[in-house]
Amino acid sequence: PACTARPRVLLLCSPCMGHLIPFVELAYRLAADHGLAATLLFASATSPPSAQYLAVAAAAPDAVDLVAPPAPPPDALPPGARERERAELAVASNIPRVRELARALAADAPLAALVVDMVGVRARGVAEEVGVPVYMFFTSPWMTLSLLLHLPGIDAARVGEHRDATEPIRLPGCVPIHAHELPASMLPDRSSSMYAGFVSMAKAMRQVDGILVNTSREIEPAVGDGMDGLELPVHPVGPLVWTRPAGEDWDHECMRWLDQQPRGSVVYVSFGSGGTLTWQQTAELALGLELSQCRFIWAVKRPHQSSANGAFFGTQNGEDTSLDFLPEGFMERTRGLGLVTHSWAPQTAIIGHPSVGCFVTHCGWNSILVSVIYGVPMIAWPLYAEQNMNAAMMEVQVGVAVRAKVGLDRFISKEEVASAIQRAMVGEEAVRMRKRASELRDKSVHDLSKDGRSTHALAQIADVWKCSTRK
Ligand code: UDP
Repeated sequence: PACTARPRVLLLCSPCMGHLIPFVELAYRLAADHGLAATLLFASATSPPSAQYLAVAAAAPDAVDLVAPPAPPPDALPPGARERERAELAVASNIPRVRELARALAADAPLAALVVDMVGVRARGVAEEVGVPVYMFFTSPWMTLSLLLHLPGIDAARVGEHRDATEPIRLPGCVPIHAHELPASMLPDRSSSMYAGFVSMAKAMRQVDGILVNTSREIEPAVGDGMDGLELPVHPVGPLVWTRPAGEDWDHECMRWLDQQPRGSVVYVSFGSGGTLTWQQTAELALGLELSQCRFIWAVKRPHQSSANGAFFGTQNGEDTSLDFLPEGFMERTRGLGLVTHSWAPQTAIIGHPSVGCFVTHCGWNSILVSVIYGVPMIAWPLYAEQNMNAAMMEVQVGVAVRAKVGLDRFISKEEVASAIQRAMVGEEAVRMRKRASELRDKSVHDLSKDGRSTHALAQIADVWKCSTRK
């Protein structure tokens, strides 16, 4: 008998919350709006999975089959291995499972495609084996993707190290990228294995059948431009943001507190799932918030010993939740003015609350997209990965952010914190940003609506996948 089950898409996501959250949203849309079924394999890097993963998994819609097999043993890599190496290992160790899962799923319903993230492009061989197309879902902006697609050429032409370059990299339609804004993976010596791995990943990306990017032409008009003869379809399908918070989010103390505050009066401060500051910088930020005398919610994390860092794979359950690192008396002095929370914050619900007036963000792309979809201006405080590029784009090109000015050793003073808050909340610049942010919100909401461009793009891809299963 003819198989009547819905064609199924298998998605493979590396162990970063910033990838998992948009992957869940993509899987959900494919299942809810485009006639496909979706299984999402999360390659966890920690066993048991992080508290953040558990929070996301608990809130994931039922339409998405989410599986998270155990992580590779902690001693599989030498101590001090970088986050990207850990992510790559987590993905690599799951490739046999992806193969098994693909075969098992294909026995029940036609398998339509394998969708991977930038780390997962190494799994494309499995797609070939089982005879389905492999697509990459890129969860950072087009500007970063463009840089990666151009990287082999840039690398071949470069004399010396990228970090020493005096001329910015100019990509079609993007803001120039200065050496100090390059992603962290481009800063080590070009002879290092770290850098070689990055270039090899960039090359592997060119071998997928198509790319979905979590952006839109409204945010990045140049998306898809300047591909230098590379025949690789690029589809903007964003901004895919998880705007369906779990029921219990509304009960969170932050939401109850926000309900009591005047419209547009609160600054929300968060450095994403992994961003941490040094002890000194954390204390200075606290003093800056106090100095601003502005209402705030701060999703605080325990400081990191030395420099700004990212613990990409999420904090562990049972982490120390004391606030002993805040300046003495800070909590008392700011009682009523601000709220400090150290659990996983219901970020979309907070940013979408009418009392929030601006967002101090590390410029992780998902955080930016949440701000965009709710029309909230940003104060950019980039920390790692491609965040410096995102900050420049949001300030210079999109016009919805101010960048906090960094001093020596990338330190941001309390005066600068207060002054950036002032710029983003009151005066001409604030009015201009708010206007632009509202326009962008309206256009983004439209792009994602039934007749919007991003929905159309996704519908077309889903049709191609569904057709290929009928051959
Ligand atoms: N997030 C959240 N609560 C938190 C911290 C982060 O819901 O307390 C979500 C945030 O809305 C975003 C994601 O986690 O969807 C973080 O992704 P992003 O790309 O902003 O940064 P990353 O954490 O990957 O650096």
